[in-house]
Amino acid sequence: MSLSILNRNNKSILLDNIGNLVTANANSVKTIKNTSILIENGKIASIGKGYSDNLINCKGKMVTSGFIDSHTHPVFYNKRDKEYAMRLSGLSYEEIAKKGGGIVSSVEGVRKSSKSQLIEKVKERMDLFIANGTTTIEAKSGYGLDTESELKSLEVIDKVNKAHQIDMIPTFMGAHAFPKEFESKRADYIKIICNEMIPAVANQKIAIFNDVFCEEGYFSVEESRLILETGKKYGLKARIHADEFSNSGAAVLASEIDAFSADHLMAVSNEGISKLRDSKVVATLLPGTTFFLGKDTYAPARKLIDAGISVALATDFNPGSSHIQSMPFIITLACLYMGMTVEEAYQSATFNGAKALGLEKDVGSIEIGKKADLIIWQLDSLLDIPYYVSNHPIRKVIKNGNIVFEA
Ligand SMILES: [Zn+2]
Repeated sequence: MSLSILNRNNKSILLDNIGNLVTANANSVKTIKNTSILIENGKIASIGKGYSDNLINCKGKMVTSGFIDSHTHPVFYNKRDKEYAMRLSGLSYEEIAKKGGGIVSSVEGVRKSSKSQLIEKVKERMDLFIANGTTTIEAKSGYGLDTESELKSLEVIDKVNKAHQIDMIPTFMGAHAFPKEFESKRADYIKIICNEMIPAVANQKIAIFNDVFCEEGYFSVEESRLILETGKKYGLKARIHADEFSNSGAAVLASEIDAFSADHLMAVSNEGISKLRDSKVVATLLPGTTFFLGKDTYAPARKLIDAGISVALATDFNPGSSHIQSMPFIITLACLYMGMTVEEAYQSATFNGAKALGLEKDVGSIEIGKKADLIIWQLDSLLDIPYYVSNHPIRKVIKNGNIVFEA
C-alpha cells in the first residue's frame, strides 16, 4: 500500500475512460456510461467534457463518490482484542461490560495516553479509512469521560484533521457512558457534562456535534434531552445513539430536538419510525456492529426506507463493538442482512451520510462544484461491491482533487 499525494501542484486532472460513473442524490442513484470527470482546484469542474494535460485512464472501470462514514469512534489507545476473544468464548457484550470491559475499559487508555501518542494511533486509522475509499468521517470523543480527557480527544481529532487529507467532522460525546467514579453519582456527572465540558468544548470551538448514548443503563431520555439541549444553547448540533439494545424512546427524542441523526435503531418502535418520518432526522444504520457482535438483530432498514426516511450507513468503528473501517463491507452487510438494494446502500453510504452531517452541499455526490472526492475502482459496477463481499480492489482514491491512495 502506498500513500502519496501526487497532485498537490497540479490544478487540473481529467479522469478519462470511465466505464460507469455512479452518483447518488436525495432521490436516486444515477449511472453515466463511458464518460469523464474534469477536476479543477480540488473540485468537480465538468462531467463528460473538458481537457487537461494531466490524464488518469480509468480503463473502463467504475468511478464513485468517496464514502462518507458518518459515525465513528476513532480516538482510543489500546485495542480490545482480548475482550473479543472473551466474546468468542461465549460471553456477551453486556457480560463483558459487567466484568469491567466495554467503553469504560477504553477510558483508562485515553486518560493515560499523551496527545501525541493518540495522534499517532488516530493518523494510522485515518490512513486505513482512506485506503478503503472513505474521504470524510465523523469522529467522536467519548473515551475520556472527564473534562481534560474529552478536550484532549477533541484536540487530537483537530490536530489529525489539519494534518491528514481525510476530512474529520468532530463530535463531542462526554455522554458515551458514566465513568466508574460517577456510577453512583449520575446526576453529578451530568452536571459536569452540562456545566463544564460543553462550555469548554464550545469555547475552544473544537466540536460541531454533541452526541449521547441514550439507552437503558446509559443515559435516560430525560438526561439525554438535557445534555443535547444544553449543547444546542452552546451551538453544538445534536445526534443520538438511539434504540440500540431496547426501545428507550430515543428516536422520538431525536425528532423532538431536531437531531441531525438518530443512530443504530435496531429496536426502534413504530412510534419512533412515524416521528422520524415527520422530521428531518437521518436514520443512521450500523450493521457492522450487529455483525461484529455475532448477533442477528439488524435494524429494520426496509421499514425505515419504505416510510420515506433518509437512511445513512456507517461503520460505527470502535475498539469494542465494531472494529470495522470498510464502507464497502458495510454495503455488503446492508444488502445481505437488511434487505437494502445495492443502489440504496450506495446512496446511504455517500449522499445520505453527507446529509447526516449537514454536508450534502459539499460532498456525497459527483456534481459540478462539489469537492472532487472520488474512488477509481478495479470493479465494473455497483453490484460488484456486495458481490466481492469483503475484498474490494480500489485503484485510486482522490480527495479534494489530490490522489491520496494508490494500490
Ligand atoms: Zn457509536
